[in-house]
Amino acid sequence: MATTRLADRYRVDRVLLAGDAAHVHPPIGGQGLNLGVQDAFNLGWKLAAQIRGWAPEGLLDSYYDERHPVAAAYWTTYERRPS
Ligand SMILES: Cc1cc2nc3c(=O)[nH]c(=O)nc-3n(C[C@H](O)[C@H](O)[C@H](O)COP(=O)(O)OP(=O)(O)OC[C@H]3O[C@@H](n4cnc5c(N)ncnc54)[C@H](O)[C@@H]3O)c2cc1C
Repeated sequence: MATTRLADRYRVDRVLLAGDAAHVHPPIGGQGLNLGVQDAFNLGWKLAAQIRGWAPEGLLDSYYDERHPVAAAYWTTYERRPS
């Protein structure tokens, strides 16, 4: 049985999860790395904005709002597959 994990939260204060730290999928379908790179792309510019002081309120939290559903959808798809 392949391991699947999906974090309930991607952020607690200054700690943020991305890639396999946030979601682990079985290699079947080959999406784990793709999802992780997309996480990093989504998060990178938001962190830069926060550090440089021009991030609007809630920008960092939008990372979870945008990326968690994508990992959850893939995770759900896998769980529905016949064994
Ligand atoms: C057999 C197999 C086939 C796969 N095939 C595909 C595929 O075809 N397509 C695809 O998209 N994905 C595939 N994946 C998934 C993909 O490999 C992972 O999703 C991806 O590598 C995750 O990248 P990551 O940077 O999030 O984590 P990781 O690659 O796990 O990187 C985390 C790094 O952090 C380091 N680390 C851990 N703890 C610490 C610490 N305390 N201090 C410092 N460093 C630490 C680790 O040594 C590691 O180098 C496959 C996975 C497997 C197992």
